[in-house]
Amino acid sequence: MTPHIDSATLQTLLERLTEDAARCFNEGKVADYIPALAKVDPDQFGIAVCHVDGSVQYAGNARTRFSIQSISKVHALVLAMQRLESDEIWTRVGREPSGQAFNSIMQLEVENGIPRNPFINAGALVITDLLVSRIVSIQNTLREQLRRLSGSDDIGFDEKVARSEMDHKARNASLAYLMQAYGNVHADVDDVLDTYFHSCSVEMDCVELARSFAFLANRGVNPLDGKQVVTTLETRQINALLLTCGLYDAAGDFAWRVGLPGKSGVGGGIIAILPGQMSICVWSPRLDGYGNSIAGRHALEGLVAGMGLSPLG
Ligand code: GLU
Repeated sequence: MTPHIDSATLQTLLERLTEDAARCFNEGKVADYIPALAKVDPDQFGIAVCHVDGSVQYAGNARTRFSIQSISKVHALVLAMQRLESDEIWTRVGREPSGQAFNSIMQLEVENGIPRNPFINAGALVITDLLVSRIVSIQNTLREQLRRLSGSDDIGFDEKVARSEMDHKARNASLAYLMQAYGNVHADVDDVLDTYFHSCSVEMDCVELARSFAFLANRGVNPLDGKQVVTTLETRQINALLLTCGLYDAAGDFAWRVGLPGKSGVGGGIIAILPGQMSICVWSPRLDGYGNSIAGRHALEGLVAGMGLSPLG
């Protein structure tokens, strides 16, 4: 796929998408089931792209940090794939879309405590359990990985968000205890939850997030330092999972509208990958009923249409 858009045209497009985003500011609402997240100003929008040569372009509130929430599930999976044998991971978590809400418990009981994929909460809890059991300081390891990938040395956790999630842990704790009962969570449940909530509480901005995902557009190589993060095969596998499972139970609709591998978080961020070209991050806190950013999804649709570039044709 050759680039169809030069950087000046792309910049104009990013700015137009930012202006258009304000039209979505009367729809949806911020995630308030985590009280610390409810405090964010809902009417913000940022967009950033990181090209495979490492250069970035951005518009709107792209330098405002926000809670990355479930976007961290991708980085947790990457840590697991870097450290564990394939069987150790994929016997404990599946690779199929769930068709259920991100925090649903129903399917888990029917399917004997094996979550459908690593990007729903139950799946991320299993990945966290695997990591907690193998890596001494998983929180530091994750933070270092994010700092390295994004080139920002001061990325960290928002302790208030992590605590707020722990104070309202009932549903995630239920998922973890159910999986423990099925023998699919081994570590102490509160340790797993604390680590998982810290991963979700990481604060980054659109530019940093786009940079931290550029390796998935670049055959597994981080353009910032030229280091191989995952193999080319693993890159394709992660992108396949993002395309089929990255947007909760709206993954099919997102693939239909946007046609890119992506991952959303209830903080209002969405990352998307245009293989061979760029990684993209959009952020706007108002969410639809699936927990996905409304203005973010609209902007990604507009970006793909405006660039005329899609891996799906
Ligand atoms: N920390 C959130 C939770 O566990 C993550 C949800 C999300 O972003 O999908 O509910």
